[in-house]
Amino acid sequence: MTEYEAIIGLETHIQLNTTTKIFCSCKADSWNDPPNTNICPVCCGLPGVLPVLNKTVVEKAVLLAAAMNTEIQPISYFDRKNYFYPDLPKGYQISQYDRPLARGGYLELPMPEGYIRRINIHKLHIEEDAGKTKNDYGRRLIDFNRCGVPLVEMVTGPDLRSADEAAQYLIRLRQLLRWLGISEADMEKAHLRCDANVSIRPKGADYLNPKTEIKNVNSITAVRDAIQTEIERQIHEVEAGNGILAWTLEWDEDSGILRKMRSKETEADYRYFREPDLLPIRLEQAWLEEILSSLPELPLARRQRFIHQYNLPEYDADILTGERSLSDYFENAVITYGSDPKRVSNWLMNDILRMVNERGIPAGELKLTANYLADIIKLVDSNVINTSTGKSLLEKVEQSGKSPQQIVEEEGLAKVNDQDAIRMVCTEVLAEAPDQVKSYKSGKAGLMGWFVGQVMKKMRGKADPQLAKAILEELLAK
Ligand code: ZN
Ligand code: MN
Repeated sequence: MTEYEAIIGLETHIQLNTTTKIFCSCKADSWNDPPNTNICPVCCGLPGVLPVLNKTVVEKAVLLAAAMNTEIQPISYFDRKNYFYPDLPKGYQISQYDRPLARGGYLELPMPEGYIRRINIHKLHIEEDAGKTKNDYGRRLIDFNRCGVPLVEMVTGPDLRSADEAAQYLIRLRQLLRWLGISEADMEKAHLRCDANVSIRPKGADYLNPKTEIKNVNSITAVRDAIQTEIERQIHEVEAGNGILAWTLEWDEDSGILRKMRSKETEADYRYFREPDLLPIRLEQAWLEEILSSLPELPLARRQRFIHQYNLPEYDADILTGERSLSDYFENAVITYGSDPKRVSNWLMNDILRMVNERGIPAGELKLTANYLADIIKLVDSNVINTSTGKSLLEKVEQSGKSPQQIVEEEGLAKVNDQDAIRMVCTEVLAEAPDQVKSYKSGKAGLMGWFVGQVMKKMRGKADPQLAKAILEELLAK
């Protein structure tokens, strides 16, 4: 039986999170606004208006271009991409064609199996978004809010080999966009959109077969499911002796079915020509350097550094660098704590991550700062409080904003290490439970846990449980 491999390329459109649109001063993000409320003569393409390029769009696109390891072009041009569609009021989209902002480049994906896959992109360019149409019981409604929203388009080479790799690419791209702070990268809100080109060939072959294009996938899970479904369909067709036709397919998430859409325009249909109303983008050295000076350490580099510098398992490093604020938080806590990064990582991955998720805010915005977390771990290490008091301190600090030391003092949470005080309570517990003492003495050793629990309860969790256990054992041996 022939074994097949999939050849997948992804075309992504990324909505940059600028305040205003790319060529006018309308508000860019309309997610919560009624239709046709953020529009003006420029983005609606009325006669006689001129576009003015938003500088921030170029700066954010350059940051992405640098992070994608591309060759940033000192000069690039805008072009008109002509097509007639109701959501495009000008009758053309301002895009970049043969002289894009950046060429080449790649994104590296750390794979769960431990190796790194490099996915190439051909080019990266800037363009404006089109509007939205929807059918409303026989009427066609148009919303121009999205016209002129700034986008970056990137197309990968045919480098992805499975639906999982395609999903991984999107996960890493989303991480990078948020890390750079240039896009919310929320697929459900169309900040990150993806079309997938899919073909198959016998494993190991070096030619490309006709491909189909999947559109309208708006979550990473949907991308994975749609590609997997299409790979299986193509294998089925080929095994049955049929050819693959270059269809454009639309994913129906509810039914898990791919539907055939209109046939696609070819490049020539777009009649590209230079946009006469805009000057080329000239990235002079000084401007470029200024933009790149704000490029942070990238997620993959930080992930590798955490593994080597802090001796973290890959699993920890991956989670801690999933988001920039969390990775900064971790590093600050390690510096304050001063030793054993793995111990800090454990507290972070168990407790801080949960707090962050519950509150829906980045780690950097917690009132429980990285320094306070380090202080709490130190209080536990130096035996001032026990672990469970330490855990309860996390919430108390977060709610009050007070320092851990202050709360320990105010609430008298310091652990009781006073032998006599603990001995008194132990004696009390044993006196109150003659039945349990009898069972224990007749061999039910498991009751020790219960006795310790009673002591802890009476002392409101402040007793040193090791010490309590030792004293109980001594008293029960009598
Ligand atoms: Zn406008
Ligand atoms: Mn495009």
